[in-house]
Amino acid sequence: MLKLKNINTFYGKIQALKDVCMEISQGEIITLIGANGAGKTTTLMSISRIIPPRSGDITFMDKSINEMSPDKIVSCGIIQVPEGRRIFPILTVSENLDMGAFLRKDKSGIKKDLEYIFDLFPILAQRRHQPGGNLSGGEQQMLAISRALMARPKLLLLDEPSLGLAPLVVKRIFETIIKINTEHKTTIFLVEQNANLALKTAHRGYVMENGAITLSDTADNLLNNEAVKSAYLGI
Ligand code: ATP
Repeated sequence: MLKLKNINTFYGKIQALKDVCMEISQGEIITLIGANGAGKTTTLMSISRIIPPRSGDITFMDKSINEMSPDKIVSCGIIQVPEGRRIFPILTVSENLDMGAFLRKDKSGIKKDLEYIFDLFPILAQRRHQPGGNLSGGEQQMLAISRALMARPKLLLLDEPSLGLAPLVVKRIFETIIKINTEHKTTIFLVEQNANLALKTAHRGYVMENGAITLSDTADNLLNNEAVKSAYLGI
């Protein structure tokens, strides 16, 4: 579904990604794990072309997206949930969700997706008239994921969904990520610092160090890999 070939991304003179190659098949949950500053967020930003790579090729559903603008990427079905949630705090929950469906014209489909979201996260239905900024951190993460779902993603890019949330809330959100993958048939690219949780959620994983991919395997094999255990799982 998505192929990254020799992606090199820079911030000025600093090279953040070095010849990154990755592949995601339709229906998969893949995860990218790595330490602070390894280049995980930059990988997502390179795919959504918010930070366009300096060289390399990215194809999505067999089409090159190398020259596309970020809004075109969204209309292709690649939707990113940014780190730190970034919902619109003064807009209500409903208005935030409407923003997610901004590019859509299929009113009945939008209504159906809204019902699906309120079923996934009933708390959002209860709070639909409240400003997004009044929600708890966990509820804001639910809203950020839901806003992305309203855009009907083919590929959902999730950046650190567990960041700053209580363990019980994290558990709930990760259960829902699996549900979105299995029920909603959405392919998911999950970036996480919580490697244990990420590898228990994903089918396959990549490990990134200093902007380069150093390992890739099934999530189960990575969970049992001695180097991964000592560097990322604290075992
Ligand atoms: P974290 O988990 O802390 O978000 P990460 O793995 O997502 O880390 P990135 O945020 O992609 O890592 O950062 C990769 C490298 O690029 C780091 O060395 C970082 O300092 C650098 N970097 C990131 N954003 C910028 C920026 N806006 N300007 C300059 N350098 C940046």
